[in-house]
Amino acid sequence: MEEKPKKRKRTQKPGRALFFRTIILLAVCGVIAFVVLAARLYEVQIGSNGRYEALALDAQLSQSTIRASRGTIFDTNGKILAISAAVENVFISPYEIDRDDQNVALIANGLSAILDVSYESITEKAAKKESQYQIIKLKVENDQADQVREFINENEISGVHFEPASKRYYPNSTLASQVLGFVGTDNKGLDGLEKRYDGDLTGINGRRVRLKNAKGTDLMFSGYDDYYNAQDGNNITLTIDATIQYFVEKHLDQAIVDYDIQNGAMCIAMNAKTGAILAMASHPNFNPNDFLSISESEMERLSYIEDEEEYKEAFHKAQFLQWRNRSLADTYEPGSVFKIITLSMALEENIVNPNSVFNCRGLKEIQGREEDKPVRCWRRWGHGEQTLTEAMQNSCNIACVEMGLKLGARTFYKYISAFGLRDKTGLDSNAEGRSLWWDDSVFFARYNQSQLASATFGQTFNVTPIQMITAAAAAVNGGYLMEPYIVKQVTDSNGNIIEATEPTVRRQVISSETSATVRGILESVVKTGTGTNAQIIGYSVGGKTGTSENVVQIAESAENAPKDYIVSFCGFAPADDPEIIILLLLDTPSRKTGISISGGSMAAPAVGSMLADILPLCLGITPKYTDDDIKDININMPRITEKNVEETKEYLLGLGFEYKVVGDGENVTGQLPLANAHVASGATVIIYADEEVPQETVAVPLLYGMTYSSAKQSLEGRGLFIRTSGAPKSNSKVAVSVQSIPSGQEVAYGSVVEVTLIDKDVIELRG
Ligand SMILES: [Zn+2]
Repeated sequence: MEEKPKKRKRTQKPGRALFFRTIILLAVCGVIAFVVLAARLYEVQIGSNGRYEALALDAQLSQSTIRASRGTIFDTNGKILAISAAVENVFISPYEIDRDDQNVALIANGLSAILDVSYESITEKAAKKESQYQIIKLKVENDQADQVREFINENEISGVHFEPASKRYYPNSTLASQVLGFVGTDNKGLDGLEKRYDGDLTGINGRRVRLKNAKGTDLMFSGYDDYYNAQDGNNITLTIDATIQYFVEKHLDQAIVDYDIQNGAMCIAMNAKTGAILAMASHPNFNPNDFLSISESEMERLSYIEDEEEYKEAFHKAQFLQWRNRSLADTYEPGSVFKIITLSMALEENIVNPNSVFNCRGLKEIQGREEDKPVRCWRRWGHGEQTLTEAMQNSCNIACVEMGLKLGARTFYKYISAFGLRDKTGLDSNAEGRSLWWDDSVFFARYNQSQLASATFGQTFNVTPIQMITAAAAAVNGGYLMEPYIVKQVTDSNGNIIEATEPTVRRQVISSETSATVRGILESVVKTGTGTNAQIIGYSVGGKTGTSENVVQIAESAENAPKDYIVSFCGFAPADDPEIIILLLLDTPSRKTGISISGGSMAAPAVGSMLADILPLCLGITPKYTDDDIKDININMPRITEKNVEETKEYLLGLGFEYKVVGDGENVTGQLPLANAHVASGATVIIYADEEVPQETVAVPLLYGMTYSSAKQSLEGRGLFIRTSGAPKSNSKVAVSVQSIPSGQEVAYGSVVEVTLIDKDVIELRG
């Protein structure tokens, strides 16, 4: 599209406006964060104690509570994610201890040893001689409570009592911690689903009303005893699949190590057709069994703070950050992942088709921008002439700008709204952050296309990860914008279904034909474009990479300081009929690893690894290998010992291995790799025939940047073996980015080192 360069006054300076908006946003977020935090800490640490203090047993008509059991939270397959178990509170009656002339020192010694409570705190409480109720320890588990009972019986003690209580357990420790949230000492949900579904989970306490005398003992024959049954809480079944969640967290944690990620990471896996959330993770996370503690690495970081107040504040900040479900709450500039949306609207409006031709010179002048500040492609010297499909494979900015200009600001915004990017998704309105878009008056201003141009390739606006993945799912699932959901059903304590969630279509945004075209183009992005490193042998994957500047960083740092990036990848599989879509964001990779910072080189291989585990093991989608694929896969080493050497040679060749024989025996006496090791096809198996397998250790070499064949040679030369993930090893352009065992580490002869291969062409990509 041609346009006459006209010099006009800009209606608004986009850079500065965004700067101020960011500052305001940060300030508002900060204030809200601390108010919420303060309220929470009060509730957890102070609020409930007061309640126990206030509980006195002086009434003649005495009521005791029969606690309702809090409901269980299950994953989609019925695996327990959170459950309440019966425990006991241990309390003393100083009144009784005094009345019966008990030995306070003996009691304090015994209880302090069994319950790990300080001796002084017990004697202090025992000194309140008018009181009949002083809590020594809440939520004591059964074995400890039994020890206290034994201690009471052995020493014929009176004045030490128990009351039933319940304790929340999260059997999978940190798994899905921000999704589940946690409960306070009084079993009230304080965060996550525990908070949002507190009303369902809590149930209704029952009570028992009895007539007692002033000393608190039952008036046995008063005839007054009323009993109201407790109604246990409802159970909740999530759409989360604990195994998918496990694989997502595993590869997310690995990516954080591999790429030295500085500001944490977020990942959402969703059923692309229904909007059901299959996994949702943020890093740093926490253990809901012990939610007040922060991770060891954070403790280490904070240990250098000397000032006590400063330390407290930093500690609370770390707590708040680990509790935060960043996939819902945080907003970010999506960068090139957003090009999926620009592509979809342009195809739907029929202004382009896959064969439309674009010419990228690396820059384009835009109305409303100063002439010396044109919009630039991430590739400074441009992509030249390319079809629409190639432009998406290249992640070309200029092609997106040209599509956006043809659509016009109003149509563009119409689709932004239709894709749900200006509204909360409805997954959890309280927890969801609010997206940040230019005001219509700026975006629609005449003679100013600056904001529109940047928006077409995902810059100068903010969305939440949940908004982005929901919109991307609509682009590839036939055009349907779904309402994401995480609770599959609520059942009562007898298993009756009270509430079940059905997938909800909010609207059809693009036609199913357009959606099929989008899928085809995005599949080619992974086959031959910037998404190459998300390939999985035997599967078809589609997706889009993204590398965007961290907006917070822009506000805080000087303009020319090295920029921080959020690298991301949104991938789906199978490409022609997506069952699952995954969005992964890695916030601020460090420069130390030497790996170039981009979504294609960091986030794409991590999503590929997630899909490689999830598709066969959780979704039952088996790989279909072509003859060519066999060259690229990893295979399990069979057991060959005690077999005939000559027959074994044939057998190994048939499986796609090479071999080397050491010794001249007739039968195989030893083998490397060991049976069941997972190694790259084409590995040179060492057959030992009447020779010993070496027992020594060897140092792992540095493999970074090597081609597949030199890395294989380097390892096999030392008696080690190779296994690959990432881009296929038959691709001549791949090089090693990450190795599973660091160089220099001593390992057993015959060990297998996994390498992540990435396409060298993708290495420098910022698209
Ligand atoms: Zn370009």
